[in-house]
Formats: sequence, structure tokens, C-alpha cells
Amino acid sequence: MNREVVSQLAYLAASILFIFGLRGLTKPDKARRGMMLAAIGMLIAIIGTLVKTEIISYGWILVGLVLGSLIGYPLGVWVPMTAMPQRIAFSHMFGALAATLVGVSEYYTDLTAGHGIGVAKMSALAFEVLFGALTVTGSFVAFGKLAEFLPGRPVTYRGQNAVNLVLAAIAVVLFVVVVLNPEASIAFYAMLVLATVIGLFLVLPIGGADMPVVISLMNSYAGLAAAATGFAIGNDVLIIAGALDGASGFILSIVMSKAMNRSFGNVLFGAFGSAPSVATRSAEGLAVASITAEDAALQLAYAHSVIVIPGYGLAVAQAQHQIRELADLIEKNGGEVRYAIHPVAGRMPGHMNVLLAEANVPYDRLYEMEEINSRFEETDLALVIGANDVVNPAARNDPSSPIYGMPILNADRARRVIVLKRGMSPGFAGIENELFYAENTSMLFGDAKASLQKLIAEVKAS
Ligand code: NDP
Repeated sequence: MNREVVSQLAYLAASILFIFGLRGLTKPDKARRGMMLAAIGMLIAIIGTLVKTEIISYGWILVGLVLGSLIGYPLGVWVPMTAMPQRIAFSHMFGALAATLVGVSEYYTDLTAGHGIGVAKMSALAFEVLFGALTVTGSFVAFGKLAEFLPGRPVTYRGQNAVNLVLAAIAVVLFVVVVLNPEASIAFYAMLVLATVIGLFLVLPIGGADMPVVISLMNSYAGLAAAATGFAIGNDVLIIAGALDGASGFILSIVMSKAMNRSFGNVLFGAFGSAPSVATRSAEGLAVASITAEDAALQLAYAHSVIVIPGYGLAVAQAQHQIRELADLIEKNGGEVRYAIHPVAGRMPGHMNVLLAEANVPYDRLYEMEEINSRFEETDLALVIGANDVVNPAARNDPSSPIYGMPILNADRARRVIVLKRGMSPGFAGIENELFYAENTSMLFGDAKASLQKLIAEVKAS
């Protein structure tokens, strides 16, 4: 069979696997399989590319393979779950850098060959370089803010949105100039440099707290840049994978913004993540009921129905195996355990699903917010583990709260609530949580893993 046919067949198979892979990701019990299918798809796409006749020498490809594996393997295996958002930002940077470099190389080659570049190809190349370059610096800033070597607070100045608009307008003008006249290489390279500046200016004013939404948006830009690369170099699988990536990243950004009850524009231009500028209800004068693991175990022993609410603290403590063990014990004693999953619990979409899947929590025990929220009233005990904002009743009843309007899990409506956290520190939104002071709430202070271990020991002993 001719090499080109093999390559096209491989691309077709890879594209189908990508689509099935994405579909698998929509259901927790199919997510692992989905990832596996997408990874196999990527391998087939790479093989399909390696058999292409355009390849003159495999030397540099081999260097890239070794370097890529050396960087990629540790990133996949050793980076802890809590550092996943910055890891993803880091990988997007590389994806976008690859698209940008391909764009520059293709432009340079075509220009020096002197055979002219058509409008369609030039548009694709310019688009690829514009979006690719701004994603490189934008993702780098997102990575820096999350890894805390850049300031997490929004870096703002007066008139920043106007400056960004002017820069974007200049970039559009350069884009049009180079599409109409591909020989205008100064416009092309100026657009490239400007795009890197836009990437910086776009992300610096956004608070570290909003980086996951930004990362998902950058994912979408990198996807669009890859799709444009596909058009520019006539590679179908890049067009398909890039379009899937671009669309899914964009949809995810919108879903995340909605789950935080924020408009997309507010995330991008609202400088959120700084100290709340509005007054929130103070907890002054309110008392907290702190309990011991022994008391908590007693409450658990009397609970027939328990809803576990995992949050970011569960990820920090890496206590997923302990919560599974405790749930098994409760069930062995005749209780019923469900898990309530808030769409933005943790620091990235699906964070809690991934953690609980790691501990083999059965998928049919995981309930989405809409499914479970009406069940809290009839639940004996809500066990909040390292969650804070996603159970903050201020989102429902304090119009002055920065999170007012964000949908929350109604943990406060359970008959009793036990909260496992280390102290009274606020969560991501930086605000007080009146749930911790409620009459039906008891606080079990300590690292979630250590507290759960104590609870397990107490339940076993009882
Ligand atoms: P929060 O960030 O609101 O709270 C986490 C809590 O965990 C803290 O109050 C902290 O309290 C506690 N904690 C930290 N470490 C430990 C530990 N080792 N053991 C026990 N507790 C610990 O988390 P939620 O999951 O409730 O909310 C997520 C927030 O992140 C939301 O505001 C959401 O909007 C935001 N967000 C989520 C995104 C996503 O995609 N998931 C994306 C962007 C933002 P203490 O220090 O006292 O222990």
C-alpha cells in the first residue's frame, strides 16, 4: 500500500479514536477508557505522520522524540494531582510553541522559495502564529501564577483594557496586511512579537484564582492554532484534533464560569482573585463547635445516611483512600454513603472525580450537584472534607458576598454536618463561611488524612 494511503487511514482511525475518547470523558466510569482511546489515537496519528513521504531525515525527529519523552514522562508520572493545573498550563505552552514554530517555518520556507503564498494559506499561517504566540506567553503567565513564581494577584493598571484593545487592533491590522501581501515579512514578524505581548497583557491582570478558566481558554486557543496549522500544511488530523480541542476547551471555560456564577467577560476582565472589594458578613462573635474524632465517630455510628462532600483540601491531604475506607466501614455498619460532586470543587474540572476514581470509589455513588441537592434535608450527616466555598451558604443568602449566586451544595440543610479542615482559613474565594458556625455543624480540626485515619480507628474500635 502506498505510504500516503497508510498515512490517511491512520489519520482517519486517530480522528475516530479522538472523538470516542472525548465522548468517554463525559462519564466518570468511561473516563479512563476515553483517555486511553485518545492516547492510542495520538500514537496512531504520530505513526501516520512518520510514514509520510515528505520526511527527508529522521534525525531531528528522533532528537525530538527523546527530548519530548524526557520532559513528558516525569510530567505525567511524578507531578502531584494538586499541581495538575500548572502542569496543564505548562503543556499548553509547548503545544502552542510547536504550532507557532511550524507557522514561522512554513512561512519562511514558502517566502524564500519565492512561489507566492495564496490568501487561504496565508490566513491560516497568520492565524496560527497569532493565536499560537499569545497562547505561549499567556500559558506561561498562567503557569507562573499557579506555580507561584509570578504574583498570583491581578496585576492591573488604569486603562489596561483600553491598552489591550489597542494592541489587539494593531494585531488585526498586521494580520490583514500580511494576508493581502504575504511578502510583508516585517508585518508577519511584528504580529508574532505583538501576539506574545498580548498573551502577557491578557493574563497578567487575571487573578491566580481564575487561572483554571484561563487555562481552559488557552487550551481552546492552542487547539485553534493547531487546526490552523493543519490547514496551512494540509494535515487533516491536525485540523480535526485542533477543532475538537478548540471547541471543547471553549465549552469547558463557559461551563466553569457558569458553575462559579460569573460571566466569561468577568473572568477575563474582572481582575477577580484579588481581595474581595465588597464587605462580607463577619464571623465576629460567632462560636465554632470543635469535636474530637471520638465524638465524630459516634455521630457517624448513628447516621443511616451520609453524604460526603469532597473539596480542594481532600486533594491537598491526598485522603481519597481514607475516605473510601471510612465509607466502606459505614456501609458495613448498615449506613448509606453518597458523594456529592460540585462542578468546581478542587482546582480543576473533574478534580474530585479523578481523586475518587483513584481510590476506586464506585461511580454510582457519585452524584452531581443537581441530582443530590434536594436530598440533603433527608440526610443524617453531611461529611465535608476539605471543601469550603462550594458549601458556603453565603452564596445563597448574602447578596454582598463575592460568591453570591454561585450554585452550592446544600450541606447546611443536612441534619448534622461535620467539617474536616485544618483551621479556620478561608477557601479559594478568601471569604468566611457561615456553615462552620451553624448550630448543626461540628468542626473536626486537623489534616484531612490524619483526621480520617483517626475516625477509621475509632469506628473500627466501636
Ligand atoms: P476551597 O478552596 O473553597 O477550600 C478548601 C479548604 O480546604 C480550605 O478552606 C482549607 O482550609 C482546606 N484544606 C486545605 N488543605 C487541607 C488539608 N490538608 N486537610 C484538610 N483541609 C484542608 O475548596 P472547594 O473545593 O470548596 O472550592 C473550590 C474553589 O475553587 C471554588 O471557589 C471554585 O470557584 C474555585 N475554582 C475551582 C476551579 C475548578 O475547576 N475546580 C477552577 C477555578 C476556581 P484549612 O487551610 O483551614 O485546612
